[in-house]
Parts: sequence; structure tokens; C-alpha cells
Amino acid sequence: MYRPIHHGYIEVVIGPMYSGKSEELIRILKRSKIAKQNVVAFKPAIDNRYSNEDVVSHSGASINAIPIKSAKEIYEHIDSDTQVVGIDEIQFFEDEVVDIAIDLADKGIRVIAAGLDMDFKGEPFGPTPRLLAVAEFVQKLQAVCMVCGNPAHRTQRLINGQPAKYDDPIILVGATESYEARCRKCHVIIK
Ligand code: ADP
Ligand code: ZN
Repeated sequence: MYRPIHHGYIEVVIGPMYSGKSEELIRILKRSKIAKQNVVAFKPAIDNRYSNEDVVSHSGASINAIPIKSAKEIYEHIDSDTQVVGIDEIQFFEDEVVDIAIDLADKGIRVIAAGLDMDFKGEPFGPTPRLLAVAEFVQKLQAVCMVCGNPAHRTQRLINGQPAKYDDPIILVGATESYEARCRKCHVIIK
């Protein structure tokens, strides 16, 4: 896709779980490194699914990333040579991440952010909607619906294998929780 050269901008990669957001972020950042750009990647410190220091996709691709608790910490790890900043799991950051992305882009940095646009209820997730509004470029990815095989744009939360209720607490002690990609027709929210 056509992108500015020597200008800062914000690009966001969104979609449900398993849609390839981390894969796409990793692909963009690796290409930037091949182009000898100065790249720094970040992820929320809470996400330690596989590794504390990498962004890892479900298919196993990975790139080094700095785990941070707050988006403000980005400033501690960049300098005047930084050209590209990658941020994964953007939905877990506070609203301020949007202002920081704008500030970085205004300073000439390419900001590439990936994350969930909707939570398991199908509602806009955290800071992502505002980031989409201010971004120059948005890639909305689809996964494959685990029920019917159509393109999936939502994430189904399952508790002990059954669709979660709208009001189920975020942490359910003793229950097995899982997520899968589903299309509009197959996504179930029990109210
Ligand atoms: P995301 O960051 O959006 O959660 P990842 O980049 O981590 O996605 O993983 C994408 C990979 O997940 C795909 O390339 C594929 O190998 C795998 N995958 C597993 N389940 C699905 C699914 N239902 N739809 C699409 N890809 C899936
Ligand atoms: Zn479906």
C-alpha cells in the first residue's frame, strides 16, 4: 500500500483473535528492519502468553518487544534515532496511548499498532476506537469462523465450552475459559 516517506503517521491493524494481527505487525516491523529503519516494539506487560520479551503470533512468528505497564514508558525506550514504533495488544493500554501515538507521529515516527477492535460482547474495546479515528491507515483483518468457516470479525468467549454470559466476570475462578473467532451469525452473547 502507498505510504508516506520521511513522515510520521499512525497505522492500525485490527480484527478478532486469530485474525493475524500479530503476524501482520511482525511482518511490517521485520520489513522495516530489513530497510535498516530503527524499530522499537512494545507490548503490555500483562500479556505473557508465550514470552516476556517477544510479540509472538499464534502461528509462531515473533519479534523482540519491550513489555510495558503504561504507554508513557514508551518515551523511556526511544530516542531521536527511532523511526518506527510498534505496539501490540493496543486494547489493553489506557486511553493515553492514543495521545502518545499522535505525539510520536507528529514527531516524525511511524507508529504501527495492532489490537482487538471489539471485546467478546462485540462492543468497542478500550482505546482502539479512538485510535482508529485518528489513524491514517487501518487494516481490518478477518479470522475464520470456527463454527461455519465464513470470515469472522468477532471473538467468542467460552466458559467451560459454553458461550459466556454478557455479565460474566472477567476472571472466573475454577472455570475453563477459551476464545474462538466467529462470524456475526455464529457469535453468541447470552444476556
Ligand atoms: P491475532 O494476533 O489476530 O490473534 P495471530 O497473528 O497471533 O492472530 O495468529 C494468526 C494465526 O492463527 C493464523 O495464521 C493461523 O495460523 C492461526 N489460526 C488459528 N485459528 C484461526 C482461525 N479461526 N482463523 C484464522 N487463523 C487461525
Ligand atoms: Zn459462522
